[in-house]
Amino acid sequence: MRVRLGLLINFHILTGLNDSTKVKKNKVALEVVGAQKSFGQVEVLKGIDLEILAGERVGLMGPSGSGKSTLLNCICGIEPLDKGLIKVAGLDLTGLKQGELEKLRRENMGYVFQSFHLLPTLSAFENVEFAAQLVGITKDERIKRVTDLFEQVGLSHRMDHLPNALSGGERQRVAIARALVHQPGLVLADEPTGSLDTESGSQVLELLKSLSSNLQVALLLVTHDHESTRICDRVITMKDGSLIAE
Ligand code: ADP
Ligand code: MG
Repeated sequence: MRVRLGLLINFHILTGLNDSTKVKKNKVALEVVGAQKSFGQVEVLKGIDLEILAGERVGLMGPSGSGKSTLLNCICGIEPLDKGLIKVAGLDLTGLKQGELEKLRRENMGYVFQSFHLLPTLSAFENVEFAAQLVGITKDERIKRVTDLFEQVGLSHRMDHLPNALSGGERQRVAIARALVHQPGLVLADEPTGSLDTESGSQVLELLKSLSSNLQVALLLVTHDHESTRICDRVITMKDGSLIAE
């Protein structure tokens, strides 16, 4: 059920209606101001302020239940804020129509989840190509980019495999290629090494680091593990819905 829900959410993130919003790369990849969010009586985000510059890698740590995933869900527009604002590539999410929000998400954000969320009936190559197809990249360019990314994540020999024929670490490397193929300004990664062994986790982190550097992509990396934040430029910590001093 969890997996199915995840796939659904992922599909929802990846797809969207066409419209004419033009997204420009901005020096500030993400701006969050006074973000508040409650579920019923429970205040989960209590006024979050956060700015991430283009190409910057920021680690987000904090105990389970402190609101990290909720913040990511608000940043990618799955959950609306109760109060405050979130700007991605200079565009305020709250001011966008549904189609515009989906376009912003599809074109300017990438996602890496703990449980990969690859589409099970598509090959590794097709999973990555699909994300490129959604933003209108031509067939020739798609093949070039996807082939090149598979080389960079070290999986050229696994491109035709279905996800369930790949190890966890390999699936996550495919998911990283998918998150980056459309060259978004911002990648959100929620515990990307949470279900991997130490060695695969380490490879995944190094890939996130090198690819985000090469492509100048900002990264917000949620992790439990202090060691994972070695790839980050800075680390912020969340506790009970608030960020505590860096
Ligand atoms: P973290 O990712 O830091 O572990 P979450 O953002 O997942 O924390 O959850 C923070 C709090 O919000 C938890 O108490 C959780 O139970 C609650 N929560 C998260 N999503 C929902 C939801 N959709 N409905 C109700 N409560 C939720
Ligand atoms: Mg979480």
